Amino acid sequence: MIRLPDIPLPRAASRQLASWQAEVDALGNHAARVEAAKRLFKQRNTRKNKTFAEVRRALTSMCSGAQRCGYCEDSAADEVEHIRPKDLYPEWVFAWRNYLYACGPCNGPKNNQFAVLSRASPKLVEVGLGLGAPLRPPKGEPALIDPRGEDPMAFLVLDLQGTFLFGPSARKGTRDYARAEYTLCVLRLNRELLTVARAEAFSAYRARLSEYITQREQGASRAALLRLTQAIQLASHPTVWWEMKR
Ligand SMILES: [Zn+2]
Repeated sequence: MIRLPDIPLPRAASRQLASWQAEVDALGNHAARVEAAKRLFKQRNTRKNKTFAEVRRALTSMCSGAQRCGYCEDSAADEVEHIRPKDLYPEWVFAWRNYLYACGPCNGPKNNQFAVLSRASPKLVEVGLGLGAPLRPPKGEPALIDPRGEDPMAFLVLDLQGTFLFGPSARKGTRDYARAEYTLCVLRLNRELLTVARAEAFSAYRARLSEYITQREQGASRAALLRLTQAIQLASHPTVWWEMKR
């Protein structure tokens, strides 16, 4: 998982989202806002809706490879995911900044799991599980690493030496460690299929790099070298390449 590029929405779509958000925010209490957020999002997030067509277009250009998921980088992304769940944070339901294109295997289990950290300690407070009635989550910094606003690789290390597992980069007992662990667990970013895919991506990147070096040494044209560079930039699992560079 790497930081996603900051792609702006066309102005008309931005305005429309802001006006829909204001409609939810104007409601009297949290439970009513949650109900409206869920209902209105379902109603409007359709293929025919012009604003969501723009949202999907912008989210697509944010994806790596062939429209790969913003979390796992592996499966096709076709679900408009709320980084902060709309069932807990209705004030973020139509926030462009809160959207990401995700795949079913990442988005499904994540569902409404969400934890926050208090200022003082690295202890997580799960705010999204076991809720009966909609309840306003306590204040605090989200535990989930947000690839739209943060650099996930500042929190994570990818083992390129054989396991292709992610681990936290910070010291155990710190807030950054807790956030990395929580994110890996909620999104299941170390599921076996992903480690296999990352291992394959690693071999492919190495082969492309080796070809680039050979071509350069043989005096290939700038255009030919550029094509090889672009092939690397458009490949799936950009985190593997990111970690190879580090
Ligand atoms: Zn995914």
